[in-house]
Amino acid sequence: MKKDYYEILGIDKSADAAAIKKAYRKKAIEFHPDKNPGDKEAEENFKLAAEAYEVLSDPDKKARYDQYGHAAFEGAGGFGGGGFNNMEDIFSQFGDIFGSGFGGFGGFSGFGGSSGQRRVKGSSLRIKVKLTLEDIANGVEKKVKVKRKVKAAGVTYKTCGTCNGSGQVMRVQNTILGRMQTSSPCPTCHGSGQILDHKPKDADAEGMITAEETVSIKIPAGVSDGIQLKVSGKGNEAPGANSIPGDLIVVIEEIEHEFLKREGENIHYDLYLNIADAALGGSKEIDTVNGKVRIKIEEGIQSGKILRLKGKGLPSLNGYGNGDFLIHINIWTPKKLTKEQKDFFERMKDDDNFIPHPQKGDKSFFEKVKEMFS
Ligand SMILES: [Zn+2]
Repeated sequence: MKKDYYEILGIDKSADAAAIKKAYRKKAIEFHPDKNPGDKEAEENFKLAAEAYEVLSDPDKKARYDQYGHAAFEGAGGFGGGGFNNMEDIFSQFGDIFGSGFGGFGGFSGFGGSSGQRRVKGSSLRIKVKLTLEDIANGVEKKVKVKRKVKAAGVTYKTCGTCNGSGQVMRVQNTILGRMQTSSPCPTCHGSGQILDHKPKDADAEGMITAEETVSIKIPAGVSDGIQLKVSGKGNEAPGANSIPGDLIVVIEEIEHEFLKREGENIHYDLYLNIADAALGGSKEIDTVNGKVRIKIEEGIQSGKILRLKGKGLPSLNGYGNGDFLIHINIWTPKKLTKEQKDFFERMKDDDNFIPHPQKGDKSFFEKVKEMFS
């Protein structure tokens, strides 16, 4: 069971942005690797705090987390809130929070492998995946073809001589404030600390090739249009012996259904009944996203009535319960009548059964909708 983000930062849900930032700063200093050298547990806590802060400091992600909990970022490797693989990511993202007293990025040593070397991460790739309402209702596994940069077979790298593997070059400048030392990415290796040693024939100048790969993506039930799933490590690889591959970002696109309309976890369906069926009652078979359901039509059903199939809507993303399937009753009036039908309706015009007598219980559509969502 994953720990609650608010609990990790030691705050309650009502904490505002300033309180969240303050709480994170406190935890980050407490578990800072400079203060806890070689302490794996502190490092873990440091990463967890950064993950919690990444989500809670972003109004969008916070809203999703408040609604769905950790499930909002799970599934195929997380929805973009999925934590940090390495410490450098944390410092590059939240380095400013430490202020003076901590060196931030450059002040670190002794994590992430060989000292002084950066682990370069490859760039992310984005793809769109189109899903039907049925896919969304049940969850689906999609196979997509991805063209990604990978290290060519047989490529080797060696330490960059310009920066001695640090990836950074220092420069001393004389300014009106005195001598200032600044660091910038090494122009030879572009910050990776390594340069190409053996280049296979088909590889580019960085030892990379473009390869097409089929990636299988498990999409959880209940996703919606615009949601992004992150598949870790399936983006572009980066050059260098200890680089880490980027991520594949999967953007969900919902295909509009022919006759079902989604509204959150509920599904709406317009059922047209002919005037005779509405008067006589009976039953109708309805296609829901989970198969056919036979519903009872009561005798004398009115246009505008909404029948609710509880739990036959879409599952919620966090796994708690399902939405409903709502059937809106519409009475279809025939547009053309035969002579015989015309005679029948002419005779019925003044029949008491055919004269509208709306009762208090025959609520208007708007009253019903209001009731449903209140
Ligand atoms: Zn270099």
